[in-house]
Amino acid sequence: MSKTWSVEEHLEDILRSIRPLDPIELNLLDAQGCTLVDDVIVPAALPPFDNSSMDGYAVRTADVEGASEEFPAVLSVIGDIAAGSADELTVGSGEAARIMTGAPLPPGAEAVVPVEWTDGGTGGGPADSMPAHSDAPEGATGQVRVHRPVHPRQHVRAKGSDVKPGTVALKAGTVLGPAQVGLLAAIGRGTATVRPRPRVVVLSTGSELVAPGEPLGPGQIHDANSFVLTAAAREAGAIPYRVGAVADDAETLRATIEDQLIRADLVVTSGGVSVGAYDVVKEALSRVDAFRGGEEDRMDAVADPVEFRRLAMQPGKPQGFGLIGPDRTPILTLPGNPVSAYVSFELFVRPALRTLMGRQPVRRRTVRARLAGDDALSSPEGKRQFLRGDYTPPGEEDETGTVRAVGGAGSHLIAALAQANALIDIPEKTGRLAPGDEVTVVPLD
Ligand code: AMP
Ligand code: MG
Repeated sequence: MSKTWSVEEHLEDILRSIRPLDPIELNLLDAQGCTLVDDVIVPAALPPFDNSSMDGYAVRTADVEGASEEFPAVLSVIGDIAAGSADELTVGSGEAARIMTGAPLPPGAEAVVPVEWTDGGTGGGPADSMPAHSDAPEGATGQVRVHRPVHPRQHVRAKGSDVKPGTVALKAGTVLGPAQVGLLAAIGRGTATVRPRPRVVVLSTGSELVAPGEPLGPGQIHDANSFVLTAAAREAGAIPYRVGAVADDAETLRATIEDQLIRADLVVTSGGVSVGAYDVVKEALSRVDAFRGGEEDRMDAVADPVEFRRLAMQPGKPQGFGLIGPDRTPILTLPGNPVSAYVSFELFVRPALRTLMGRQPVRRRTVRARLAGDDALSSPEGKRQFLRGDYTPPGEEDETGTVRAVGGAGSHLIAALAQANALIDIPEKTGRLAPGDEVTVVPLD
């Protein structure tokens, strides 16, 4: 009898064989969700110039010293400075320039008096409200009465106060979410060098399978797995290609996989890996001459590119893993029952995808929780069991969360899977769990 593998041994074998994908340069929005390969250095100060944080008047502080409602400082308004303005206004003694939020602080001015601290100006000009843009420096005229003093730099955002040139904007390994994409845009980067999203080809096998939307004949069932796995791959950040169901014919399956390799960074199959008469995946992939790639590979070809294993695990006992084709593309062959396929995805495929994407950590977080419900659970000794659970995080009163098993151990129970938000991870040596016992939970969020 060949060896029985633990979940950890199988996962480690997979992760040992997989390298992060080569970096590519992508447009900023295409890089969303991807991992930065290098530190990004700030090329120039942000903000690039001193600018106003308020709508108001740019002034010299000495001119408004001691100003009050009763004794306002009266300044003559020399024009408008709108955001985006490149006007060459200089504020002299006794003068003020009407300024909009974000507009550059004009030479001569030291601070900005918010419009609320003034009478709003008495002179003419385009409008009482600030113009969106004024081409005419003389947009605002007349006088403004200032009711409060300002200290130097008040209501001024200093050049470089956000980030300074030469500093690290984002570290290598950062995942680009909306805020990070925003920062790259703000510092003027139109592209980012990242690990691309892996392309995952998803196939299910089984002559009994019919695409959803099609009527079932006798003995047929709808193909759930290629949908579960495609959705899960997409959620993990990959670009999935759902090939759909392939009949239980080894030659067709082998040819289909070979055709798909061109667009695959990873291949996932379901079904056909147990010990039955129609274990098509095993038959198609364990052929010595399958997927050897080019002539050079033939010289030092691996005898079995894909290794099929028995894991001490429930569900998901039969698993296969290998590197196939000229590019040695990783393939994970998952068992056919939908719950087994999904649990196997979570345990093995997701970490593999995260490794390809250069994302850390590759495994999901775990938490401890108390088993809720009235019934004790029995678990097969010698096997690591992953039950489906409904997890409630800790509340204000309780320090640990609770988890309730949903559905039974049956790996065909996809309805219960759809009610679950977590997996309950029961160690190999545990045979029984009573309500209130502490368990390890893998939240699926
Ligand atoms: P297999 O390992 O191929 O014998 O599949 C195990 C069980 O899972 C069988 O009852 C299959 O009918 C079922 N099964 C396999 N593939 C799928 C699928 N894509 N969708 C739903 N059930 C499946
Ligand atoms: Mg099958």
